Amino acid sequence: MKLAVPSEPNDPRVALAPNAVEKLSDIGIRVLLENGAGTKAYFADEAYEGATLLSRKELLTAADMVLSIHPLSDEEMDLLSKGTVMISQFQPFNDRGLAKRLQKKGVKAFSLDMIPRSTAAQSMDILSSMGSIAGYKAVLEAARYLPRYFSMMITAAGSIRPAKVLVLGAGVAGLQAIATARRLGAQVEAFDTRSAAREEVESLGAKFVVVEGAKEAADEGVYAVDQSEEFLKRQRKEVQERAQKADVIITTAQVRGSKAPLLVPAETIDAMRPGSVIIDLASSTGGNVELSEDNAVVERNRVTIVGNSYLSALMPQDASQLYSNNVVNFLKLLMEEATLRINMDNEIIRNTLVTEEEE
Ligand code: NAD
Repeated sequence: MKLAVPSEPNDPRVALAPNAVEKLSDIGIRVLLENGAGTKAYFADEAYEGATLLSRKELLTAADMVLSIHPLSDEEMDLLSKGTVMISQFQPFNDRGLAKRLQKKGVKAFSLDMIPRSTAAQSMDILSSMGSIAGYKAVLEAARYLPRYFSMMITAAGSIRPAKVLVLGAGVAGLQAIATARRLGAQVEAFDTRSAAREEVESLGAKFVVVEGAKEAADEGVYAVDQSEEFLKRQRKEVQERAQKADVIITTAQVRGSKAPLLVPAETIDAMRPGSVIIDLASSTGGNVELSEDNAVVERNRVTIVGNSYLSALMPQDASQLYSNNVVNFLKLLMEEATLRINMDNEIIRNTLVTEEEE
């Protein structure tokens, strides 16, 4: 089984790290790597011992499986043989016509962003791996732009109070942001609509702010649900009260398959202190912050607003290593005695397969 790993044209990460080559060889997978695919993540071609280095075109035409972080373009998919297995992040919940389009190309597509958020799937959960890095980096980005210390300082020249950080959305990225901001010595408050987040927030030494009346998923699903406009209005009021005293706001609130909820309107930004910083990790799905722009840093009323949903790409080496580890665990599930076996009885396989498979 030949697994092709192309470079990522618009991302410094790579889907496979060098130490995966041997692990995959043990389960019957030979790695074909595009020349220089790992360079931007600081993995040299020579480090991929045992892999075959090829040009992009050679690699795609020879592949039985293609592994990437972002899906290939439609034109490149035409280079693949019929029945090629593609493993990537297709975001099927944002693209209704996707399954049909992929089916027409004759490929079998697995979308790693559909891995269930369960204990059994934890070792394959790329969303958690990348979310955690994004939360950590969000705090470091905030510290870079903030004209103040994060921690309390008592010096001969005078004392500095600790920074106040407000985190909106306490999922994987939010919790890592809380932990990182606490480690830097900040005082942290956090909001989430899932009541289960409270204990996690408090265990990290942050204050959980409750807004009464949040709707939660009826099936006890792990994801949040859309809230009523009336709830969001009350929530925005609570956020504004705290935003006026905050130095940093980090927003991570997402509702799977929907536009991100607007939690920080322009008037809240106008009420913030000059020099404050907002990091909007939800900017690619509409943003939690009215004035944030995806992939841009803007200033409004002396408040810096960073819109970036791919902060994990700012840490490409560890991000690639963790993505790679998740993928190796996923491939172990797909391979049986050195052969690909799509076992539709397995929940993880069933959830991630985007194209149809005969049962
Ligand atoms: P996500 O990126 O979809 O959303 C981020 C956070 O925003 C969530 O906590 C969500 O509740 C919150 N949110 C949505 N609307 C909001 C609003 N109006 N105000 C405030 N917060 C709002 O979430 P995620 O980080 O991908 O995590 C999703 C869930 O999966 C979490 O419950 C997490 O604990 C769970 N999880 C479980 C496992 C496991 O069991 N193995 C692994 C990873 C994640």
